[in-house]
Amino acid sequence: MKITAITVFRKDLPLEHPYWLSGGRLKFETLDATFVKVATDAGLIGWGEGTPWGHTYVPAHGPGIRAGIETMAPFILGLDPRRVLDVERAMDMALPGHLYAKSPIDMACWDIAGQAVGLPIADLMGGGSRAPMPIAASIGARTAEETRAMIDRYRARGCIAFSVKIGGDVNRDIARIRDVEARKQPGEIMLYDVNRSWTRQQALRVMQATEDLDVMFEQPCESLDDIAAIRPLHGAPVSVDETLVTLQDASRIARDGLAEVFGIKLNRVGGLTRAARIRDIALAHGIDMFIMATGGSVLADAEQLHLAATIPPAHMLGTWACQDMIAAEIADRRGPRATRGYLTLPEAPGLGVHPDESALGAPVAHYANQGKPQAAPIRPGYQT
Ligand code: MG
Repeated sequence: MKITAITVFRKDLPLEHPYWLSGGRLKFETLDATFVKVATDAGLIGWGEGTPWGHTYVPAHGPGIRAGIETMAPFILGLDPRRVLDVERAMDMALPGHLYAKSPIDMACWDIAGQAVGLPIADLMGGGSRAPMPIAASIGARTAEETRAMIDRYRARGCIAFSVKIGGDVNRDIARIRDVEARKQPGEIMLYDVNRSWTRQQALRVMQATEDLDVMFEQPCESLDDIAAIRPLHGAPVSVDETLVTLQDASRIARDGLAEVFGIKLNRVGGLTRAARIRDIALAHGIDMFIMATGGSVLADAEQLHLAATIPPAHMLGTWACQDMIAAEIADRRGPRATRGYLTLPEAPGLGVHPDESALGAPVAHYANQGKPQAAPIRPGYQT
């Protein structure tokens, strides 16, 4: 089987409500989504999606995905999409880094591989749990009152896990955490997500002031160095997501004990192939996981579910349903949908959901090549 064409679509996904995080430092209203259709000579079609969480958040942006695919396409055309490691190597040789641009191609290849053998991706990866996955509701509010209202709204939809966005003002953060904790219900998981917004002293002041509450923080500071520096000075469990990008990040965090939870974001780490390696590092070191899309439609939500389903439920803290925050529908309500706070793995082969092409508009790029793939450039170190 060979890849014969790659077609790229761009779609603006409007958020239902404007979204603030990092203490109001970032505000998003629309996500720039890229959808990738990979065609094969066997007639199978695979779909991928790359939707970074805004352009000003982390080093990943929509136009970067499309430019990356333009660069990589000649090296991917003609490859067998079922051999995801070959595709990964070809992409790495054509374009070092830029993992977020590789993720939609990886996703489409897994989609085709699953369809080729008639299995959902999770089963192809070794076996997927059918246990419904709890959705962590993303609470991008600013004041204590807004936070309460937003949590109540998601509670009414059945959510038991919440990622509450904090950061910005130490005293306000402490007050908001205490307010949320006072209303927390039995069995609920609260993750206080700082999105890198605290300096070291701010992090220590909030984390030390809330030590009586048994709370968990995500990405309290900008870098792994910052997180390492404050690690011996507080007692709270920490999740890392924005600075968990490469396998090297994962091995450093595990080896040095920088976090007790990994927040694996599929698009950020380069897709399912690479995320599965990070998953294994977590499992080998007693690190629990949130598995989430970086953002996007039901396609991105389906991709995260396939990986989440390969993790023993005891180590899976939650997924996400970004689809519920998007005021656009690209798959005619097909695919995994949030039901009473949970998502369930699709049983259809491959990804289990494809977009309605008419909802995506005209393609912005099309790459096709009937011949052999272009020879990958040789890395200088490989020359003899
Ligand atoms: Mg986070």
